[in-house]
Amino acid sequence: MIGIFGGTFDPIHFGHLRPALEVFQDLRLEQLRWIPAGQPPHRDSPDASIEQRLDMLRLALQDIPQSVVDECEVQRPGPSYMFDTLTMLRQRFAETGLALILGMDAFNGLPGWHRWQELLNLAHIIVCSRPDVDLAASAELHAMIAASRVDDISRLHDSHGGLIYIHPVTALPISATEIRGICKQGKSPRFLLPANVCDYIEQNGLYRQEV
Ligand code: ATP
Repeated sequence: MIGIFGGTFDPIHFGHLRPALEVFQDLRLEQLRWIPAGQPPHRDSPDASIEQRLDMLRLALQDIPQSVVDECEVQRPGPSYMFDTLTMLRQRFAETGLALILGMDAFNGLPGWHRWQELLNLAHIIVCSRPDVDLAASAELHAMIAASRVDDISRLHDSHGGLIYIHPVTALPISATEIRGICKQGKSPRFLLPANVCDYIEQNGLYRQEV
């Protein structure tokens, strides 16, 4: 089973890395594909350029085997829809299960995503807990969970997609928004993200200006 972790990664931080590693280990994934959004459909343009976000991802992941940076969304023109990404991966890895990993806030936003109800036709959805974020009181989401949730990790290996698994992960109340805010104040974000990513941010003067 291949894990898919999408995001803006503006910048990548320990709130991404630790939950992803825990899911990777606990679900016995064979690979983790990190997919930075080119044009995120649900938010403003990122502060850092795509080249800078890719550089930071590669720095963060350089010592993590089985982690792959997948540039499919940054190379595809137009908005970065996860439906299109999973359709492409489903064709490419036809014999392998796919597991889309989402933080609880991202899962709560799912009903706004392009063709969201078809995502389970392409992959499992793994929902990671996120501090201060509860499952939304959305009837659509609750219906989806009622139809597809499993509590037994081993069930995920029996099919290539179609199931929802909610995974408690170590609570790290870190966000990229907070890190950008710290940098804008001229302070250091060190210890919220890998040291080499922090060095890159400081060397390139990222997030210092209001954009
Ligand atoms: P921003 O603050 O700019 O919105 P972010 O820190 O939420 O960014 P994203 O790149 O938007 O990071 O998130 C990518 C994925 O990582 C999403 O599924 C999100 O829910 C998850 N995620 C981000 N931070 C955490 C965290 N601290 N704990 C658990 N999941 C997280």
